[in-house]
Amino acid sequence: MDFTFSPEIEILREMVRQFTDQEIRPIAAEIDEKHEVPRSLIKKMAEIGMFGIPFPEEYGGGGLGETGYVVAAEEITRACFSTAVTLGASTSIGAMAIYLGGNESQKKLWLPKLCSGEWMGCYALTEAESGSDPASMRTTAVRDGGDWIINGSKIWITNGNFADLIILFASTDRALGAKGITCFVVERERKGVRTGPRERKMGQCGSSTCPLYFEDVRIPDANRIGNIGEGFKVAMKTLDRGRLGLGGNCLGASKECLSLSSRYASERQQFGKPIGEQQSIQNYLADMATDIYTIESAVYRTCWMCDQGMNVNRESAMVKLFASEGLDRVVDLAVQIHGGMGYSRDFAVERWYRDARVNRIYEGTNEIQRIVIARDVLKKGI
Ligand SMILES: Cc1cc2nc3c(=O)[nH]c(=O)nc-3n(C[C@H](O)[C@H](O)[C@H](O)COP(=O)(O)OP(=O)(O)OC[C@H]3O[C@@H](n4cnc5c(N)ncnc54)[C@H](O)[C@@H]3O)c2cc1C
Repeated sequence: MDFTFSPEIEILREMVRQFTDQEIRPIAAEIDEKHEVPRSLIKKMAEIGMFGIPFPEEYGGGGLGETGYVVAAEEITRACFSTAVTLGASTSIGAMAIYLGGNESQKKLWLPKLCSGEWMGCYALTEAESGSDPASMRTTAVRDGGDWIINGSKIWITNGNFADLIILFASTDRALGAKGITCFVVERERKGVRTGPRERKMGQCGSSTCPLYFEDVRIPDANRIGNIGEGFKVAMKTLDRGRLGLGGNCLGASKECLSLSSRYASERQQFGKPIGEQQSIQNYLADMATDIYTIESAVYRTCWMCDQGMNVNRESAMVKLFASEGLDRVVDLAVQIHGGMGYSRDFAVERWYRDARVNRIYEGTNEIQRIVIARDVLKKGI
């Protein structure tokens, strides 16, 4: 067994860490307060190749696979969840759907622009009446000669208000449920595409999330990703990867919370000595470190499996489930260790606490992950 990262991945980690410390950490609180990841920051991330990390070089990517992407996601989230999520929506679930489901000419057409960050992507599956149950979606794509006409709406779409390319899942046969869903690429500039107002969220406030409306939007059949009726498969295959990115995000945020808490526990004095000398606080730090160790082991073992070409459907669901619940335990203890200051906007752990919660909800709720895992266990055993 070899648990070391390759030299290329180590170099990437160091590069992203430096970038994050210089460009993201100093403005992370401002991103949260102003509810915006600045375009200038996205441009700088694009310039150092952040949006193409997992994809092969022939499509303009960095060729560093899932492990490379997750290492970068972990490092960015150590400073700012909103920035990591903006990257993730474009790369880990947006461009990834084209990479996993598209044909060669579609990959050559769209991936270089997404990898270079010239274009941004988003992934549009959820609807007002169809969240955990995408098979009931109402957005339709109806064939019209060599084109498709799209009608319907999506909600909660990360990057929805500025993405140039929308990975859209629509029903081409509602009677077939999940087997009637097809995946398309819709360019934002197409007539009939409209964005609704941004959601007002509890956390990850810098990341933009909004509804998208499609009214008689005409796209050519060349924009169809994969076979008719196989969009659900593309959606799920893509989420297998997205859930690993989410695991990396949870890992980065957890590490930062432990680091802040350990420092605070050494500095804050009560009863004439640092609170870190109290056994209760030591227990908290130990529990946080143990969760982090376990999250890290699961995340990178699964990234390795993924990069070997193995099926990681069950494992990525377990990573998503454990990492998001582990992060919630960690941020909760971080706030507790900081006492009243943990409840103050002047201390970063307050932001982590708000930013963490949604990880149990998006990319498939944790209740749905448990269904995915249990079904696989019942079918294949341990
Ligand atoms: C900040 C944010 C960003 C998002 N970004 C995107 C995005 O970029 N693209 C996108 O497509 N979507 C996105 N989403 C949507 C997200 O994926 C959905 O919110 C999520 O899948 C849950 O759907 P829902 O909100 O409709 O909840 P519901 O499906 O209505 O679920 C409500 C509750 O019922 C439970 N439940 C439902 N069915 C079952 C069942 N069979 N068994 C047990 N429990 C069940 C759920 O687990 C949950 O606890 C985002 C959401 C948020 C909050």
